[in-house]
Amino acid sequence: KLHNTILELKGNIRVFCRVRPLLSDDDVGTETKVVSFPTSMETHGRGIDLSQNGQKHSFTFDKVFSPEASQEDVFVEISQLVQSALDGYKVCVFAYGQTGSGKTYTMMGKPGTSDQRGLIPRTLEQVFATKQTLQLQGWKYEMQVSMLEIYNETIRDLLSSNRTGFDASRAENNGKQYAIKHDANGNTHVSDLTVVDVRSSKEVSYLLEQAAASRSVGRTQMNEQSSRSHFVFTLRISGINESTEQQVQGILNLIDLAGSERLSKSGSTGDRLKETQAINKSLSSLSDVIFALAKKEEHVPFRNSKLTYLLQPCLGGDSKTLMFANISPDPSSVGESLCSLRFAARVN
Ligand code: ADP
Ligand code: MG
Repeated sequence: KLHNTILELKGNIRVFCRVRPLLSDDDVGTETKVVSFPTSMETHGRGIDLSQNGQKHSFTFDKVFSPEASQEDVFVEISQLVQSALDGYKVCVFAYGQTGSGKTYTMMGKPGTSDQRGLIPRTLEQVFATKQTLQLQGWKYEMQVSMLEIYNETIRDLLSSNRTGFDASRAENNGKQYAIKHDANGNTHVSDLTVVDVRSSKEVSYLLEQAAASRSVGRTQMNEQSSRSHFVFTLRISGINESTEQQVQGILNLIDLAGSERLSKSGSTGDRLKETQAINKSLSSLSDVIFALAKKEEHVPFRNSKLTYLLQPCLGGDSKTLMFANISPDPSSVGESLCSLRFAARVN
């Protein structure tokens, strides 16, 4: 019930913050703890305090997950959103944060583990389990998956059988344009993009592996890290009830955003500078779009980046958006953490 109130007030945009545990590589010991969680009644489970140079910055979100929160704890809070997609809603879940803050852990989880699998595998399990249950009520569902990466404002198909064709320097995809078109029904069509019919979460796991392999092929070719691109996983759901003839069309987009870190200005030149500018542009466009939607502004600047244009039909309207602000507790990252919290607070 609380969630409903929040949703009504905020036009279906929610922000969760998740702080990962300290890792052995982190710069512990040089400074005291920089992240803490207020325990007062009003902010319990929703507040986070960050101290930088003796100054405390306080933020509240719809939910704050401390380092102890398990993958299951996090999934419980989004499973309602997954159900919405089966009910015909368009849903976007973003992970935002600097590289190393836990975006991929939140979305995909830790490879080779079961209890640490992330939101994407858990979502798929729920979707296919619910599909089975709803079959008993006469519902017949069809699911389609696509996976793409946006690097330097260029779309790259991660499920293409031809994985050799990406040349970052020329920003070409074997002559493929991956042009984005939205039709009158709010459906998005990306030309040449591979879309695969799927019948089980196992099939999707296989495709996720294929996508991961495709990403790393690109990475060596381009000499860049996957953290410099946005990863967009899309599940299209269409359902029809054979007895009532009711129809639903839902979409679930799960997005692992490029690292939000600012590179030191002096250090970045050439390709690296171009990359950073592209990332900054698309992340600030995303923020502008969500901000405009939350404020119910008339003009929403969807066209300012590939990412926001691609997701246009799934942002705004009666669609549902959830943003994770992933935070590292590493004292040496406090500046970046503050930037991430401010970014998230702006759209919250
Ligand atoms: P990002 O994708 O933002 O660059 P990662 O998800 O790769 O960051 O996380 C960086 C490291 O921290 C990885 O080794 C990951 O396994 C670990 N990690 C992140 N979040 C958690 C968490 N909640 N619990 C345990 N380990 C985590
Ligand atoms: Mg990552």
